[in-house]
Amino acid sequence: MANVRTMLGDTELVSLDAGQFPYDGGAMFGGVPKVIWGNLTSVDEFNRIILTLSPLLIRVGSRNIVVDVGYGSRHTKKDLQIWGFDPAVTVVTALEEEGLKPADIDTVILTHLHADHAAGSTSDGADGVEPTFPDARYIVNETEWEAANNPDARSAAAYRPDDFVPLERAGLLELIGDSHELGDGVSVGRTGGHTAGHMAVYIETDAGKAVYPADLIPTRHHVRVPYIAGIDLFPLDVIESKRKMLTQAVAEDWVVILDHDVAGNIGRIVQDAKGRFAFRD
Ligand SMILES: [Zn+2]
Repeated sequence: MANVRTMLGDTELVSLDAGQFPYDGGAMFGGVPKVIWGNLTSVDEFNRIILTLSPLLIRVGSRNIVVDVGYGSRHTKKDLQIWGFDPAVTVVTALEEEGLKPADIDTVILTHLHADHAAGSTSDGADGVEPTFPDARYIVNETEWEAANNPDARSAAAYRPDDFVPLERAGLLELIGDSHELGDGVSVGRTGGHTAGHMAVYIETDAGKAVYPADLIPTRHHVRVPYIAGIDLFPLDVIESKRKMLTQAVAEDWVVILDHDVAGNIGRIVQDAKGRFAFRD
């Protein structure tokens, strides 16, 4: 894999290659039977499909904004056994390919705090766990922060406080409400669905609009409204937020950048005569 990019006016959008991992196909496709989803993507002997870790880099003016940071470099032995990460590929190595150092990043937006999106926020340093991006402010939804610090029994395994508590300690954390403007055409909005505080990121330019739906639409297959991951905490909210987002994406021809799709992460949305949505590279 490699980074892939598109320009929208003067704003450069780069889907970063921060690695990939196998994940249970049933958990990703929820109520969709395997006889159907098994034809859409390849499946290994453990019923797993490959997901990419694809954070988004937004380069606008002199700013470098990173949306989500992948799994990072703080893997336990167990992580490496279960997930088969390549420890040599991270958001930091992906940014290096763009000629950027961690200190060049001014803003990190975390769509939610699950480890595959937020663990790269921090790294092992000389004095313990420290922020990976020392000069960035880290934007997190306040509902997500609350849920991640006091997880329910179902969510506890997906959140690792070591990933994000050091951000608060370092004074780099900025908690926000349901919608927030970051300037330069970049904004975030709470979608809920996957988690209560899950956010999507919107980029508006003179040349059109783009969205990073994160785990509201993790792969191209999830563009179909009833395709809802089994791990989504609020499935009916997924349907509502997704339908609204996709309807706007078709009407205004948005660029859509996916976070976990192994077949390609940048495309647009089309809708057929029956109203069904599809992703086109
Ligand atoms: Zn995810």
